[in-house]
Amino acid sequence: MADRQDFSAIEVAELRKAAEQQLIAKPEAMPTTPSDDKKLLHELQVHQIELEMLYENLRHAQDELEKSWASYFDLYELAPVGYLTINDSGSILNANLTATTLLGITRKALLKKTLTEFVSASDQDNYYLHRKKLAETGEPQVLQLHLTKADGALFWVRLEMNRAAETENGQLFRVVVSDISEQKANDDYLRQAAAMFESAREGVMVTDAETRILVVNRAFCQLTGYSADEVLGQSPQLLKSGRQDEGFYKTMWSDINDTGYWQGEIWNRRKNGEVYPQLLSISAVCNEYQQVTHYVSVFSDISQLKNAVNRLDHLAHHDPLTNLPNRLLLCARLGHCIEVSSRDRKSAALLMLDLDRFKDVNDSFGHLAGDELLQQVAARLTSRLRGVDTVTRLGGDEFALLLEDLSHPQDAALVANEIIEALSDPWYLSNGAEVRIGASIGISLFPGHGQTSEELLQHADAALYLAKADGRGNYKYFSEALTEASKRRINLESLLRRAIIKQELQVYYQPQVDFASGAIIGAEVLLRWYQSDEGEIPPSQFIPVAEETGLICEIGEWALLKACSQGQVWIEAGVPPLRLAVNLSPHQFRHGDIVASVTNILKETRFPAECLELELTESTLMTRESEAVRILSALRMLGIRLAIDDFGTGYSSLAYLKRFPLDILKIDKSFIDDIPQLEDDKEIASAIIGMAHTLRLKVLAEGVETEAQLNFLKEQGCDFYQGYYKSPAVSADEFVALIKASL
Ligand code: C2E
Ligand code: CA
Ligand code: CA
Repeated sequence: MADRQDFSAIEVAELRKAAEQQLIAKPEAMPTTPSDDKKLLHELQVHQIELEMLYENLRHAQDELEKSWASYFDLYELAPVGYLTINDSGSILNANLTATTLLGITRKALLKKTLTEFVSASDQDNYYLHRKKLAETGEPQVLQLHLTKADGALFWVRLEMNRAAETENGQLFRVVVSDISEQKANDDYLRQAAAMFESAREGVMVTDAETRILVVNRAFCQLTGYSADEVLGQSPQLLKSGRQDEGFYKTMWSDINDTGYWQGEIWNRRKNGEVYPQLLSISAVCNEYQQVTHYVSVFSDISQLKNAVNRLDHLAHHDPLTNLPNRLLLCARLGHCIEVSSRDRKSAALLMLDLDRFKDVNDSFGHLAGDELLQQVAARLTSRLRGVDTVTRLGGDEFALLLEDLSHPQDAALVANEIIEALSDPWYLSNGAEVRIGASIGISLFPGHGQTSEELLQHADAALYLAKADGRGNYKYFSEALTEASKRRINLESLLRRAIIKQELQVYYQPQVDFASGAIIGAEVLLRWYQSDEGEIPPSQFIPVAEETGLICEIGEWALLKACSQGQVWIEAGVPPLRLAVNLSPHQFRHGDIVASVTNILKETRFPAECLELELTESTLMTRESEAVRILSALRMLGIRLAIDDFGTGYSSLAYLKRFPLDILKIDKSFIDDIPQLEDDKEIASAIIGMAHTLRLKVLAEGVETEAQLNFLKEQGCDFYQGYYKSPAVSADEFVALIKASL
């Protein structure tokens, strides 16, 4: 087989020609003698057989040749690159199928053209120079240029030009044409991507699957303050601000693992330590097996955006002149306050304030002066309020105040009064003018005067209207009764302050009697106030005011001092030993150091501690429960006796009282009042006595007014009593007289 394939095409063609000539020549060349004929015939036959064999071989060779031609045809014609043969002048002599496809032209048409005709105008020089060099030196030439398709479309090719042969008609060149459009497009894409990466305003960071930083762009360095060298190979943890907790990163990574993507806001830290907000997106990059190979993070610094948003938000919710919150923000806070207050059972007040005579200032000094005054008013209002309260400007000379977590509805009036006073002080404008204005205030309360922001605003407005109608410089609650009560209270407060200075207060003594002996064994010390204009003001009115304003500390300490010095005077005068019971208010117990002040007073007056008793209510003990035990123990160490006052009206749990070191339990007057008519009260009273005794407490019944009450309580084993049956609280002199009388 091998030798058959070795025939060259030319040899095969020659052989075939020779064989055909012999076969055709055969009839004419024949001699005619018989013997010769026979021999000749024989020879001819042999020859014919040889020829036929030769022919057979030839056919075989031809088949093989055709086969290899066919595969050569495939190789040549359908090669992935175009082949062209051109001559000296660039005319195309030969072209494979790929070349014709690339140029979009039939082979017939192509073979009439030069390659130069296909080269784009801008590449002509380049092409010419390379061809010239090839022709001159024979060195293969490679170049990239644009060719034009027959339809005018340009495309990128790589030309490899070789000298193929030198004939007497000149040189032949073989040109290999590779279409590199796609590669060029890819190159362009990569170049653009790289330019984009570097010039992007967003910071870009690429990490490997183990989140080691591989690449960062210029913006990354600008935004973070780190150079590329400082971060490459590091973990992005370097950028953490610590503002997000572990949970945040956990959700972030589970998002990335689940969906391949995460976007959100995050606070990171620059190299200089500054913490700033980023809008960050992280994408996971996977290979063809869906394994993560890289993470790409793109972020922008949104601090300016955030600032802008905050500024806009501030503008929308604040009054530009005074920078106070505006009506919009007030409504939002009011809504929120109503929600919180109703949930926590707290109260709140809305104060609507209108300046009196503001218009006069505006008219006489101009709008600039008016604006300046409003700014000063805003500042003065803000400085008067607690941090939790909201001052807003509703517009013009109208302001509103929201007081949250109000302990007493009347506190709103205290604030209103204080503000009215503060705003009535003179104002000094920068134009040198001194002006005076006033303010009127309308108050609505939650709960009570409305359940919605609108209702509260409306009712505060209605109250403001009333306040102004009433002569300005005034406040009014939405309900008249509250206004009255608060006015009285405020009046009382100022009277009480003066009473302390003018020493209008006195202490009285109400005898406490021992059931067993019928003897007066001591007294409860009670405050009395005689006011020159108002007359006698009962403790039930002024004690709560003193309690709320804190004046009770001063007053209570004064009562204690007064009682102890009086007690010592009696001792020195030879009056039989007495026990003096002084009331201790919750405020005194909570603020101030009660142990220290009692110690000092005892020392100062030399009154024996065993003769002093302090009365506390259950609610007093509950407000500072853990500390109460410590304070009571300290007082008891001094030798003082402790009584629980008004028992039955409060928490009333003996088990609860067990943990406090107490000596005496005072049954509240309300359980005594209906004895002996009410069976229930009788039962309660006797139960309290029984239980107190099991806790080793002595029992005192308060408010005993009748003999029936006295007898019943005595029967039940009650230890002491006080009440009008024996005597109301009396002056020190009267009290001594009572003791002497009962001796
Ligand atoms: P309290 O401690 O429960 O005092 C007993 C009150 O009942 C006294 O009223 C007393 O006058 C009154 N009372 C006593 N026996 C009878 C009676 O048989 N019938 C009637 N109807 N009332 C009787 P007062 O003096 O008006 O004091 C009222 C409250 O004021 C006291 O209640 C006490 O909580 C408070 N208070 C009085 N003085 C002081 C004080 O110096 N310090 C403190 N923190 N509170 C005081
Ligand atoms: Ca008392
Ligand atoms: Ca009492």
